[in-house]
Amino acid sequence: MLELRNVDTFYGNIQALRDISLKVDEGDIVTLIGANGAGKSTTLMTVCGINRPRQGEIFWYGKPIHTLPPHEIVALGISQVPEGRLIFPDLSVRENLDLGAFLRQDKDGVKDDLDYVFTLFPILAERRKQAGGTLSGGEQQMLAISRALMGRPKLLLLDEPSLGLAPIIIQQIFSIIQKVNANGTTVFLVEQNANQALRIATRGYVMENGRIVMSDSAANLLKSEEVRTAYLGM
Ligand code: ATP
Repeated sequence: MLELRNVDTFYGNIQALRDISLKVDEGDIVTLIGANGAGKSTTLMTVCGINRPRQGEIFWYGKPIHTLPPHEIVALGISQVPEGRLIFPDLSVRENLDLGAFLRQDKDGVKDDLDYVFTLFPILAERRKQAGGTLSGGEQQMLAISRALMGRPKLLLLDEPSLGLAPIIIQQIFSIIQKVNANGTTVFLVEQNANQALRIATRGYVMENGRIVMSDSAANLLKSEEVRTAYLGM
Protein backbone atom coordinates (compact mmCIF):
# COMPACT_ATOMS: atom_id res chain seq x y z
CA MET A 1 0.00 0.00 0.00
CA LEU A 2 2.80 2.42 0.98
CA GLU A 3 6.37 2.16 -0.19
CA LEU A 4 9.37 4.41 0.39
CA ARG A 5 12.26 3.88 -2.01
CA ASN A 6 15.71 5.23 -1.23
CA VAL A 7 14.42 8.34 0.52
CA ASP A 8 16.79 11.09 1.72
CA THR A 9 15.33 13.95 3.75
CA PHE A 10 17.20 17.02 4.99
CA TYR A 11 16.68 19.91 7.40
CA GLY A 12 18.77 22.55 5.66
CA ASN A 13 22.21 20.94 5.43
CA ILE A 14 21.46 18.30 8.05
CA GLN A 15 20.57 14.93 6.57
CA ALA A 16 17.93 13.26 8.75
CA LEU A 17 17.00 10.31 6.51
CA ARG A 18 19.57 8.28 4.59
CA ASP A 19 18.42 5.97 1.84
CA ILE A 20 15.25 4.85 3.59
CA SER A 21 13.35 2.03 1.90
CA LEU A 22 10.37 0.44 3.59
CA LYS A 23 6.94 -1.00 2.88
CA VAL A 24 3.64 -1.04 4.66
CA ASP A 25 1.25 -3.72 3.41
CA GLU A 26 -2.49 -3.33 3.66
CA GLY A 27 -3.92 -4.79 6.86
CA ASP A 28 -0.64 -4.78 8.79
CA ILE A 29 0.62 -2.99 11.85
CA VAL A 30 4.14 -1.97 10.89
CA THR A 31 6.35 -0.41 13.51
CA LEU A 32 9.43 1.76 13.17
CA ILE A 33 11.53 1.69 16.32
CA GLY A 34 14.74 3.44 17.26
CA ALA A 35 16.33 5.82 19.72
CA ASN A 36 15.57 9.47 20.18
CA GLY A 37 16.74 11.41 17.13
CA ALA A 38 17.08 8.36 14.87
CA GLY A 39 14.74 9.91 12.29
CA LYS A 40 11.41 8.22 13.05
CA SER A 41 9.30 11.39 13.17
CA THR A 42 11.03 12.70 10.07
CA THR A 43 10.01 9.52 8.25
CA LEU A 44 6.34 10.15 9.06
CA MET A 45 6.62 13.84 8.17
CA THR A 46 8.13 12.84 4.85
CA VAL A 47 5.28 10.44 4.10
CA CYS A 48 2.76 13.20 4.92
CA GLY A 49 4.41 15.69 2.60
CA ILE A 50 5.39 18.06 5.40
CA ASN A 51 9.07 17.41 4.69
CA ARG A 52 9.90 16.68 1.09
CA PRO A 53 12.46 14.01 0.23
CA ARG A 54 15.47 15.43 -1.58
CA GLN A 55 16.08 12.04 -3.17
CA GLY A 56 13.97 8.94 -3.56
CA GLU A 57 10.31 8.20 -4.09
CA ILE A 58 7.18 7.42 -2.12
CA PHE A 59 4.39 5.32 -3.62
CA TRP A 60 0.77 4.86 -2.54
CA TYR A 61 -0.74 1.83 -4.24
CA GLY A 62 2.01 2.15 -6.85
CA LYS A 63 1.43 5.87 -7.59
CA PRO A 64 4.08 8.44 -6.66
CA ILE A 65 2.94 10.84 -3.91
CA HIS A 66 6.18 12.53 -2.86
CA THR A 67 5.42 15.62 -4.92
CA LEU A 68 1.86 16.07 -3.62
CA PRO A 69 0.96 18.74 -1.04
CA PRO A 70 0.00 17.45 2.44
CA HIS A 71 -3.77 18.03 2.05
CA GLU A 72 -3.84 15.87 -1.07
CA ILE A 73 -1.96 13.13 0.76
CA VAL A 74 -4.54 13.26 3.58
CA ALA A 75 -7.32 13.07 0.99
CA LEU A 76 -5.82 9.80 -0.31
CA GLY A 77 -6.52 8.22 3.08
CA ILE A 78 -3.32 8.80 5.05
CA SER A 79 -3.82 10.44 8.46
CA GLN A 80 -1.15 11.26 10.97
CA VAL A 81 -1.38 11.53 14.74
CA PRO A 82 1.63 13.73 15.45
CA GLU A 83 3.91 13.39 18.44
CA GLY A 84 2.73 15.54 21.32
CA ARG A 85 -0.87 15.02 20.19
CA LEU A 86 -1.52 18.64 19.10
CA ILE A 87 -5.21 18.74 19.83
CA PHE A 88 -6.95 22.14 20.05
CA PRO A 89 -7.04 22.83 23.81
CA ASP A 90 -9.77 25.49 23.70
CA LEU A 91 -12.14 23.53 21.49
CA SER A 92 -14.43 20.89 22.95
CA VAL A 93 -13.81 17.19 22.42
CA ARG A 94 -16.67 17.15 19.92
CA GLU A 95 -15.29 20.16 18.02
CA ASN A 96 -11.85 18.56 17.85
CA LEU A 97 -13.46 15.46 16.35
CA ASP A 98 -15.50 17.49 13.86
CA LEU A 99 -12.26 19.03 12.59
CA GLY A 100 -10.98 15.55 11.80
CA ALA A 101 -13.92 15.09 9.43
CA PHE A 102 -13.84 18.49 7.76
CA LEU A 103 -12.84 17.14 4.34
CA ARG A 104 -15.84 14.80 4.27
CA GLN A 105 -19.21 15.43 2.64
CA ASP A 106 -20.92 12.20 3.76
CA LYS A 107 -22.84 13.31 6.86
CA ASP A 108 -24.17 9.83 7.62
CA GLY A 109 -20.70 8.31 7.43
CA VAL A 110 -19.36 11.01 9.75
CA LYS A 111 -22.11 10.27 12.25
CA ASP A 112 -21.25 6.54 12.08
CA ASP A 113 -17.57 7.28 12.66
CA LEU A 114 -18.37 9.52 15.60
CA ASP A 115 -20.30 6.61 17.13
CA TYR A 116 -17.34 4.35 16.28
CA VAL A 117 -14.75 6.49 18.10
CA PHE A 118 -17.10 6.94 21.07
CA THR A 119 -17.39 3.13 21.24
CA LEU A 120 -13.60 2.79 21.13
CA PHE A 121 -13.13 5.51 23.73
CA PRO A 122 -16.28 5.84 25.88
CA ILE A 123 -14.52 8.42 28.06
CA LEU A 124 -14.54 10.83 25.09
CA ALA A 125 -18.31 10.47 24.79
CA GLU A 126 -18.63 11.36 28.45
CA ARG A 127 -16.38 14.37 27.96
CA ARG A 128 -17.64 15.48 24.57
CA LYS A 129 -18.50 19.01 25.76
CA GLN A 130 -15.31 19.47 27.76
CA ALA A 131 -12.42 21.57 26.40
CA GLY A 132 -9.66 19.37 24.95
CA GLY A 133 -7.05 21.07 27.12
CA THR A 134 -8.75 19.89 30.32
CA LEU A 135 -8.31 16.19 29.42
CA SER A 136 -5.56 14.05 30.93
CA GLY A 137 -2.55 13.14 28.76
CA GLY A 138 -3.98 9.71 27.97
CA GLU A 139 -7.37 11.16 27.07
CA GLN A 140 -5.70 13.72 24.80
CA GLN A 141 -3.90 10.88 23.03
CA MET A 142 -7.25 9.09 22.63
CA LEU A 143 -8.72 12.31 21.23
CA ALA A 144 -5.83 12.75 18.80
CA ILE A 145 -6.25 9.17 17.53
CA SER A 146 -10.00 9.62 17.28
CA ARG A 147 -9.63 12.88 15.38
CA ALA A 148 -7.44 11.10 12.83
CA LEU A 149 -9.97 8.24 12.58
CA MET A 150 -12.73 10.79 11.81
CA GLY A 151 -11.05 11.20 8.42
CA ARG A 152 -11.72 7.48 7.89
CA PRO A 153 -8.09 6.84 6.87
CA LYS A 154 -6.91 3.71 5.13
CA LEU A 155 -3.54 4.20 6.79
CA LEU A 156 -3.06 5.65 10.27
CA LEU A 157 0.38 7.05 11.08
CA LEU A 158 1.04 7.18 14.81
CA ASP A 159 4.01 9.06 16.23
CA GLU A 160 4.93 7.79 19.70
CA PRO A 161 1.42 7.38 21.06
CA SER A 162 2.81 6.05 24.36
CA LEU A 163 5.04 9.05 25.05
CA GLY A 164 4.69 10.36 28.61
CA LEU A 165 1.77 8.12 29.54
CA ALA A 166 1.36 5.83 32.56
CA PRO A 167 1.85 2.09 31.87
CA ILE A 168 -1.82 1.25 32.34
CA ILE A 169 -2.88 3.94 29.85
CA ILE A 170 -0.21 2.74 27.40
CA GLN A 171 -1.77 -0.74 27.57
CA GLN A 172 -5.16 0.73 26.76
CA ILE A 173 -3.85 2.77 23.84
CA PHE A 174 -2.02 -0.23 22.36
CA SER A 175 -5.04 -2.46 22.68
CA ILE A 176 -7.16 0.18 20.90
CA ILE A 177 -4.56 0.37 18.13
CA GLN A 178 -5.00 -3.40 17.68
CA LYS A 179 -8.76 -3.00 17.61
CA VAL A 180 -8.61 -0.20 15.04
CA ASN A 181 -6.38 -2.42 12.92
CA ALA A 182 -8.73 -5.39 13.31
CA ASN A 183 -11.52 -3.11 12.06
CA GLY A 184 -9.63 -2.61 8.80
CA THR A 185 -7.25 0.33 9.25
CA THR A 186 -3.60 -0.28 8.41
CA VAL A 187 -1.22 1.17 11.01
CA PHE A 188 2.29 2.56 10.76
CA LEU A 189 3.49 3.01 14.32
CA VAL A 190 6.58 4.95 15.32
CA GLU A 191 7.69 4.09 18.85
CA GLN A 192 10.57 4.34 21.29
CA ASN A 193 8.67 1.78 23.37
CA ALA A 194 10.02 -1.06 21.23
CA ASN A 195 8.77 -3.85 23.42
CA GLN A 196 5.11 -2.85 23.33
CA ALA A 197 5.24 -1.84 19.68
CA LEU A 198 6.76 -5.14 18.53
CA ARG A 199 4.20 -7.07 20.54
CA ILE A 200 1.30 -5.69 18.52
CA ALA A 201 3.06 -5.28 15.17
CA THR A 202 3.26 -7.69 12.25
CA ARG A 203 6.51 -6.26 10.85
CA GLY A 204 9.15 -3.96 12.22
CA TYR A 205 11.98 -1.71 11.07
CA VAL A 206 14.82 -0.55 13.27
CA MET A 207 16.30 2.86 12.64
CA GLU A 208 19.67 4.26 13.69
CA ASN A 209 21.13 7.62 12.68
CA GLY A 210 18.73 8.13 9.82
CA ARG A 211 19.16 4.63 8.36
CA ILE A 212 17.13 1.43 8.48
CA VAL A 213 19.49 -1.10 10.06
CA MET A 214 17.14 -4.06 10.45
CA SER A 215 13.79 -5.21 9.11
CA ASP A 216 11.94 -8.40 9.88
CA SER A 217 8.71 -9.80 11.23
CA ALA A 218 7.96 -8.29 14.63
CA ALA A 219 8.19 -11.75 16.20
CA ASN A 220 11.75 -12.23 14.88
CA LEU A 221 12.82 -8.76 15.99
CA LEU A 222 11.52 -9.45 19.49
CA LYS A 223 13.72 -12.57 19.57
CA SER A 224 16.77 -10.90 18.07
CA GLU A 225 19.76 -10.57 20.38
CA GLU A 226 20.67 -7.19 18.90
CA VAL A 227 17.21 -5.74 19.39
CA ARG A 228 16.91 -7.18 22.86
CA THR A 229 20.17 -5.62 23.97
CA ALA A 230 19.85 -2.27 22.25
CA TYR A 231 16.12 -1.58 22.50
CA LEU A 232 14.51 -3.87 25.01
CA GLY A 233 17.04 -3.37 27.80
CA MET A 234 17.68 -7.12 28.17
P1 ATP B 1 12.22 11.64 18.54
O1 ATP B 1 11.91 10.42 19.29
O2 ATP B 1 13.00 12.63 19.35
O3 ATP B 1 11.06 12.25 17.82
P2 ATP B 1 13.05 10.68 16.00
O4 ATP B 1 13.64 9.33 15.82
O5 ATP B 1 11.64 10.87 15.65
O6 ATP B 1 13.29 11.16 17.47
P3 ATP B 1 13.58 12.92 14.33
O7 ATP B 1 12.76 13.85 15.17
O8 ATP B 1 13.02 12.46 13.05
O9 ATP B 1 13.98 11.66 15.19
O10 ATP B 1 14.99 13.59 14.10
C1 ATP B 1 15.98 13.07 13.21
C2 ATP B 1 17.16 14.00 13.13
O11 ATP B 1 16.77 15.23 12.50
C3 ATP B 1 17.75 14.39 14.48
O12 ATP B 1 19.13 14.44 14.35
C4 ATP B 1 17.18 15.75 14.75
O13 ATP B 1 18.05 16.51 15.54
C5 ATP B 1 17.06 16.32 13.35
N1 ATP B 1 15.91 17.26 13.28
C6 ATP B 1 14.63 16.99 13.55
N2 ATP B 1 13.84 18.06 13.35
C7 ATP B 1 14.68 19.05 12.94
C8 ATP B 1 14.49 20.41 12.55
N3 ATP B 1 13.28 20.97 12.54
N4 ATP B 1 15.59 21.11 12.19
C9 ATP B 1 16.82 20.55 12.18
N5 ATP B 1 17.07 19.27 12.52
C10 ATP B 1 16.02 18.53 12.89
